[in-house]
Amino acid sequence: MDLMEKVSSLAKRRGFIFQGSEIYGGFQGFWDYGPLGVELKNNIKKEWWKSMVYLRQDVVGFDAAIIMNPAVWEKSGHLKAFTDPLIECKLCHQRFRADKKDLLAKHESEHGEKVGWTESKKFNLMTEVLLGVTEPKQKAYLRGEITQGVMVNFENVVNSTRVKIPFGIAQIGKAFRNEITPGNFTFRSREFEQMELEYFIPPKEDESKKTFEYWKKQRMDWYVSLGLNPKKLRFREHKEGERAHYARFAEDIEYEAPFGWDELEGIHHRGDFDLKNHSLKYKDNESGEEYTPWVIETSGGVDRATLFFLLDAYHEEDKRVVLKLHPRLAPFKVAVFPLLANKEELTKKANGIYETLKKEFNTAWDDRGNIGKRYFAQDEIGTPWCVTVDFKSLEDNTVTVRDRDSAKQERVEVEKLNDWLKTKLND
Ligand code: ATP
Repeated sequence: MDLMEKVSSLAKRRGFIFQGSEIYGGFQGFWDYGPLGVELKNNIKKEWWKSMVYLRQDVVGFDAAIIMNPAVWEKSGHLKAFTDPLIECKLCHQRFRADKKDLLAKHESEHGEKVGWTESKKFNLMTEVLLGVTEPKQKAYLRGEITQGVMVNFENVVNSTRVKIPFGIAQIGKAFRNEITPGNFTFRSREFEQMELEYFIPPKEDESKKTFEYWKKQRMDWYVSLGLNPKKLRFREHKEGERAHYARFAEDIEYEAPFGWDELEGIHHRGDFDLKNHSLKYKDNESGEEYTPWVIETSGGVDRATLFFLLDAYHEEDKRVVLKLHPRLAPFKVAVFPLLANKEELTKKANGIYETLKKEFNTAWDDRGNIGKRYFAQDEIGTPWCVTVDFKSLEDNTVTVRDRDSAKQERVEVEKLNDWLKTKLND
């Protein structure tokens, strides 16, 4: 099995990610996150929000509606230009994105002969929805990117808060695209989540370049700080002709997945494209100057980040599978076990510790099978620490804490356990 298969089968077996509508044969490009997957995804979003909003004075948060007046998409250019080039194999009629040359080459080699391709056609990615109860129903769109909700509220944010340029608006939310070829597990889905920052600056070339470089570094550093292997991360500049319709220039943060290097996050210089199209301006209250700000955007995929964190964390060693997730991303921070399930003194003490810890950390409880099996089960879902209550605990009020990555054990006083974990988590 290759890494992708191993991770997708672990994701299903242990309740991270399931195929959407699985009992009805699935639905291409849609995925459901299970009890552990939702924790991992929420932890990624929490870390992102903390670094982008809470730890900064120049960024505020936002949460816009998914469905907006269709005029937004008319003005933003998405109805005309939010397209991918589609071609069809003349032998088997399978459809592909014409710009994904590696996939085309792979398809040709699967046929084992030269393949004829149809002319490339532009295919709009926006997903239509019909609203209303009587005919004719009103056509609207599920947002293809979360950005526009922030853009159209630019003046609302400026007028209702104390922000002053330069400042940013951060948002996390669902987006929908009629992808031609959903695939590679959750990598290319039709419904997915984005985490984006729109950073508004004065329309000045030098400053915009500096801001662009600043955010590139911030975003790359964030992934590395949460444990992604820096050797599997790189920047890739978009070539002429490749850029989205709104971008003056763009660079992707790419990750080396089992299916090759591909995009994790895009850093885009959107210039004044959006605010100008929506006729929105900024007035500097001190100088009285009025202008259309420029925007530097960082746009990451929550589902792609979840997938890449899982792929990166997957290790097989000494006959065990370990998900070496950063402790702050791990679904459970700690698991508590009584050494033996049939000794009431042990179970009672362990249960007391579990009840205390779970008020502060997502804590797992396990009293099935033997200790070795319980460690293996927690390693496989990335729980960084396992606490075992044994007979010594009854005498001296200490427990064994076993570290997931090194498998080393140390004794910690029960009274100090909360602080011990807090310190480790903030390391
Ligand atoms: P691609 O070239 O892979 O189609 P894109 O350049 O169209 O992606 P952007 O419009 O820049 O992507 O979107 C920002 C981020 O949203 C991407 O970096 C990615 O993480 C995420 N994203 C985009 N499309 C999808 C998708 N179909 N499934 C999952 N995540 C996606």
